[in-house]
Amino acid sequence: MEGLQNPRSIRQLNSRIVACRLCPRLVKHREAVAAAPPRRYLGQRYWARPLPGFGDPRARLLLVGLAPAAHGGNRTGRMFTGDRSGDWLFDALHHAGFANRPTSEHRDDGLSLADAYITAAVHCAPPFNKPTLSEIGRCEPYLLTELRLLTEVRVVVGLGRIGWQAYLRGRQALGAPRERPAPKFGHGAVTRFADGMTLIATYHPSQQNTFTGKLTRPMLRGIFETARRLLDRAGSEPSRSDRPAGAGVPPPSASARGAARRA
Ligand code: SF4
Repeated sequence: MEGLQNPRSIRQLNSRIVACRLCPRLVKHREAVAAAPPRRYLGQRYWARPLPGFGDPRARLLLVGLAPAAHGGNRTGRMFTGDRSGDWLFDALHHAGFANRPTSEHRDDGLSLADAYITAAVHCAPPFNKPTLSEIGRCEPYLLTELRLLTEVRVVVGLGRIGWQAYLRGRQALGAPRERPAPKFGHGAVTRFADGMTLIATYHPSQQNTFTGKLTRPMLRGIFETARRLLDRAGSEPSRSDRPAGAGVPPPSASARGAARRA
């Protein structure tokens, strides 16, 4: 069981995540919505558990979202799958060559990601899509472990302010210095770090943003076109795993190691 105490691979980490019941409010919610689905999903068997990350464990592009949707990922069992947010996101990922299909309908639809991995600040569907700060904190060790295990990542896209902040906080928890001046969230904002990582901010492809026109398809596609350009440019540089120790995000502090070990 040692592997599950301190995951050594994304697969081990994900098997840990899907069994997690640390947040009583979220456990109750994810199961309650599955027990009383809307008419259009009547008869479907919901996943109703935490969602593992999804994608390529050797990815250079990492996406950090907010949390699964109650009748999207919480129903289908895969990040951004079975809801309108996923339609927008995978259209943009496919357009930039990170996904083999522009749609994400269910776990057996043949969708795969190339050079991209999707995770979230919180792995369970929260009521009204709003996790509390303590729930975000409780789920953070999983993100820290992903940041440790996804050694090839060069570019991170923060999907919405909460996902963007989760990555910034995660870097600092792993020992990276606080940025001065502090990065500001805004659609298309690009932050370059001294260790070679780049963070791109985007509005979340939630219906609240897409229905109102705050986020358009060309705007979202543009984010992943930028990510693709940055990765193409970085192609000739050594990967994080090839660099000497200390060249990337500094080794985790003792407290960060403790938090990540919980994952
Ligand atoms: S939100 Fe994260 S920490 Fe909380 S129960 Fe779900 S997986 Fe566990």
